[in-house]
Amino acid sequence: MYPRIVVDLNKLNENLDFLNDLCHSQGIKTAIVTKVFCADERIVELINASDADMLADSRTQNLSGMKTEKPRLLLRIGMQSEAEKIVSCAEISMQSELETIMKLNEAAKKLNKTHRIILMVDMGDLREGIFNKHYDVILNTARAINDSEHLELYGIGVNLTCYGGILPDENNLGGLVEIKNRLERDLGVTIPIVSGGNSSTMGMLTERIVPEGVNHLRLGESFVLGNDTAIGKPVKGLNTDCFVLEAEIVELKTKPSKPIGKSGPNAFGEYLEYPDRGMMKRAILAIGRQDVSVDGLTPLDKDIEIIGASSDHLIINLNEAKKEYKVGDVVRFVPDYGALLHLFTSKYVDRTYIDLK
Ligand SMILES: *Cc1c(COP(=O)(O)O)cnc(C)c1O
Repeated sequence: MYPRIVVDLNKLNENLDFLNDLCHSQGIKTAIVTKVFCADERIVELINASDADMLADSRTQNLSGMKTEKPRLLLRIGMQSEAEKIVSCAEISMQSELETIMKLNEAAKKLNKTHRIILMVDMGDLREGIFNKHYDVILNTARAINDSEHLELYGIGVNLTCYGGILPDENNLGGLVEIKNRLERDLGVTIPIVSGGNSSTMGMLTERIVPEGVNHLRLGESFVLGNDTAIGKPVKGLNTDCFVLEAEIVELKTKPSKPIGKSGPNAFGEYLEYPDRGMMKRAILAIGRQDVSVDGLTPLDKDIEIIGASSDHLIINLNEAKKEYKVGDVVRFVPDYGALLHLFTSKYVDRTYIDLK
């Protein structure tokens, strides 16, 4: 069935081993992030069999279906309305709101469990977390967790390079470690985990300059696409083509390149310019904006150019193609993070796997 994503389990496995080894050799635990592939069962199986320390996802729906013996970490700050769901599907969660944390304690009590919390601190990227200058709030929240019978103050964490585009460095990661040390002194407890961020830490990791004390990372894009997200480039040693999209040609005709007639908006309300590039060999693929973010696709055949898409049709220019394409042929693309996210979420896109050797 097309369109479909071809998942290369061998390449993903190589990425897993590379990341786990790189982190473990520096005393850093790995939480492999499963949200971009909607916790696909086969990939979860792979992570479960690897040396990864835990699996992480932002959605309780993904976590609750996971078949794994490793701890599960909820990445997105919890909704109060799903407190019980969180405690039942995740051993650990990242939190920043005292009221929600108290609801988690009640839920854990009801379910007779202990739930571990990583308290999020905002070091400047301005997405989730208690602002780092508000130490009194951090301390009070940490104390409340510590005093709750069914909660464990498992760690503190930071998220960077997400909303504000702030890069990890000695200052913000060092600052997080300082806050952890201060909390340990003020509360007289040991806090096991300092979760220093996501795939934007890849550069520091490969240079082995992650500040002392950071002992946990949550890795998604580096695992699936091999990217260091701080620079938007692949990391040497990681595979970048673990996922390939295949779509089928349903029409192939030579037509003008500039639309003819009085022009208005397209199907998405956009007013686009179409330069006149003469006659063009154009193919329509049976995939569209309902399934994928078209801007995030790179054709594997470098001579192909994507020229546009509507909800169900993707149009490509084959003028420069050396290969003789025909109707019924399959065209292959490597998706970026946004495209991958979208592809896995569309129920119209099939999946197939290249099995482990
Ligand atoms: C998605 C997510 C990650 C993973 O980020 P990558 O850049 O894909 O490695 C890490 N932490 C949190 C809180 C997330 O939501």
